Amino acid sequence: MTAPVVAIVGRPNVGKSTLFNRLTGRRSALVSDMPGLTRDRREGTTRIGSAEITVVDTAGLEEGDEASIAGRMRRQTETAIAAADLVLFVIDSRAGIVPADAEFARVARQSGRPVILVANKAEGRAGEAGFLEAFELGLGDPVAVSAEHGEGLGELMADIAAALGIAPDRGHGGEEAEDADGAIAPDASTHPIRIAIVGRPNAGKSTLVNALVGEERMITGPEPGLTRDSIATPLEWRGRKLSLVDTAGLRRKARVEELAEKLSASDTIRTIRFAEVVVLLLDAERPLEKQDLTIGDLVADEGRAIVLAVNKWDLVTDKQRRLKEIREDVAERLAQIPGVRVIAISALGEKGLDNLLEAVVETYAVWNKRVGTAELNRWLEEATSRHAPPASHGRRIKLRFITQPTTRPPTFVAFCSQPQDLPKSYLRYLTKSLRDTFGLPGVPVRFNLRKGENPYAGRRRK
Ligand code: GDP
Repeated sequence: MTAPVVAIVGRPNVGKSTLFNRLTGRRSALVSDMPGLTRDRREGTTRIGSAEITVVDTAGLEEGDEASIAGRMRRQTETAIAAADLVLFVIDSRAGIVPADAEFARVARQSGRPVILVANKAEGRAGEAGFLEAFELGLGDPVAVSAEHGEGLGELMADIAAALGIAPDRGHGGEEAEDADGAIAPDASTHPIRIAIVGRPNAGKSTLVNALVGEERMITGPEPGLTRDSIATPLEWRGRKLSLVDTAGLRRKARVEELAEKLSASDTIRTIRFAEVVVLLLDAERPLEKQDLTIGDLVADEGRAIVLAVNKWDLVTDKQRRLKEIREDVAERLAQIPGVRVIAISALGEKGLDNLLEAVVETYAVWNKRVGTAELNRWLEEATSRHAPPASHGRRIKLRFITQPTTRPPTFVAFCSQPQDLPKSYLRYLTKSLRDTFGLPGVPVRFNLRKGENPYAGRRRK
């Protein structure tokens, strides 16, 4: 059986090569990298379970004079698509949809090949607008990824598997989930959960890292992380692989004592961006100060999962009452992420660490949670009939269809007749109801509105 072929197409600079490298890792080769030949196409392989897949990259078409590029690119793209079993159509979420995207999308649509729409560069807020615009291409739900940061690739692989009719092999690839080149193996569920421990100076971060990792590891020192300026310390807990990530700032502190009190805001932001779950460490005697709330805001903005650890619990006398107070305070002041888990620990006494890691793993699962479209639409119907949207300009605002295009964090898109007129309070009502119904505590939830009808209506008719 020959391997199914997946072609990566899209206009220049959307990140096709980076995605190609991510998918194939070191198992790739330039197929026409010979003198005198245009580097028109690269081929590599990736695996899903035991199935091998050929990945074709159409990058390198940018060379040559302007006038000839458009036509040549179009031909190359058509050729690649014709030879493919599946097309990954890549757009740049930061740039949004430009005419060239629409043009290439037409080629892809007309080919009749199955297409997965990949919204690349989707990390952080800057990618949101373009991601939403991607719906307009009529290629179905975009999958948000960051090829550069390695985000959303597990999901993409699952979609590729589904499109090619390959069963993702769940039991496979624990050790190989992420190889030296950073290629993501299909079963991303076994990749280590990237955890950052952040908090004010003296909250006990170093002590906690030591307690979690053990003295032994600290002596041998942490291993180089996924990027140049980060460090990742591997950890295993109840068979689950974890990775304590840390940008230069935190470690520097451990080595150079005079920097101890100064962990700059940009270090914290970078650490948060790099993590999947953020553990915000508080000092039980001085919980939730302004700086902690700022970190909470950053986590919400960056769309990360969060767990609160209240440290130095050994020093607290009236433990029950204190925990209740802190939980109430958190619920009130970290209102943008409802349901955050609050775990009392003693890093020094190594108490509560299992509870903490359990909360981390559970919150990570929520962050990755996907709610089915049918269920979502049943909920939408109920929520809008229980409490109808208001009228605007004499017309009742209608919400017609909702879907969850991405996870990490859970992101929903509802189609609305007059999105700009729907009151914020109504959106809050919907978001809260959605959270309560599907259980999404401790993670930011994005609820976006699009103008228009059910985007699937057209596709079903075909
Ligand atoms: P960092 O600045 O957040 O890395 O904080 P450190 O880990 O350096 O800890 C600051 C101080 O708090 C040190 O003196 C620790 O020994 C102390 N500390 C850390 N965890 C605990 C704890 O659970 N209980 C008590 N009583 N002290 C702790």
